[in-house]
Amino acid sequence: MLVILNPNTDETTEDFKITWEYLFGLPEIRLQKHKVQGRGQKLTEIYLIGNTAKVNQEDIELLPSVERVIRISHDFRILGRHSKETSSIDFEYNGVRFNQNNFHIFAGLCAVDNPENVERMMQALQEYGHKCTRMGAYKPRTNPYSFQGHGKGCLPYVFELAGKFGIKVVAMEVTHEQHIEEIDNCLEKLGRPTGVMLQIGTRNTQNFELLKVVGRQHTYPVLLKRGFGISLNESLNAAEYLASEGNNQVIFCLRGMKTSFNTPHRNMVDFSHIPIVKRLTRMPVCVDPSHSVGTREASPDGILDVLHSMSQGIIAGANMVLVDFHPFPTEALVDGPQALTLDELPKFIEDAQISREAYKQRVALWTEK
Ligand code: PEP
Ligand code: MN
Repeated sequence: MLVILNPNTDETTEDFKITWEYLFGLPEIRLQKHKVQGRGQKLTEIYLIGNTAKVNQEDIELLPSVERVIRISHDFRILGRHSKETSSIDFEYNGVRFNQNNFHIFAGLCAVDNPENVERMMQALQEYGHKCTRMGAYKPRTNPYSFQGHGKGCLPYVFELAGKFGIKVVAMEVTHEQHIEEIDNCLEKLGRPTGVMLQIGTRNTQNFELLKVVGRQHTYPVLLKRGFGISLNESLNAAEYLASEGNNQVIFCLRGMKTSFNTPHRNMVDFSHIPIVKRLTRMPVCVDPSHSVGTREASPDGILDVLHSMSQGIIAGANMVLVDFHPFPTEALVDGPQALTLDELPKFIEDAQISREAYKQRVALWTEK
């Protein structure tokens, strides 16, 4: 059961205390409080977890701070969209806002190789006014002999350069609890020149112990990739693991599915699932066309397949794109064959903007009375 309090409820008031104490006293019920920052107003949501069948909804609706009460289904309790009016997850992290209505580009290096390339990438992003990037320090690889990422050794220069070039959010994959500590210690030591969005890769979507650890920390938002070989429902449940541990600042990323039919692409692009994720849940949705497509092949119209797929995602309402770039793709240590070059960055940004505008026009077309 979800109890939504009146907007901007002040937790020091008598009304709030009466409401909280009543809910706290309910037998066989555990409470979980979440703050949702909407435009201009703060919403407090209290989840009643446990035997809610015995709870009287009307009694709760009469409590002084309560705006409304929604009975929710068992699935995706916190991240699910349980009624049409439920607002989307909406949060600001390090000055950047994320929700189901806005749009961000996270272009960057799949794997950090050296400070020079990190600098080239970040400088180019700054030139075009971009404040977000992706940088891989911990790389989960199929082959144990492949480059595994520079790990904590590269964090100081990645974060310092991010600060230097005004990058506010760096999406960075973690595969182990220890990586969160390393990131946190390094940022703290440097005086937090930038922010990090913890990425959980497709291979770890059902690493439940990792999900619990990442969900328990509230410092960093999370980008969760869809599992490459599990159902959408299973991947959405993985996201719910994060929220059930207390972190609802979760962005869900579609990155293609592994099937035998995807050839010659790396994965079967699944961006038609964007509206489904938005309908079933309140999470902003990201698309990763680089890992979906996996090549720099172009069609006869002169447009790279990666860009065609990116556009398909944005025009269907994606809120974020994660794309691999590299100053010299043939020298990249991971995923060079799919990386875009820095020369392509301005047109890439323009292409994304054209697609975003088209999405907005489509929404206006279908919602105008
Ligand atoms: C990545 O984004 O670098 C990555 C490894 O992606 P995925 O987990 O989707 O394969
Ligand atoms: Mn990669």
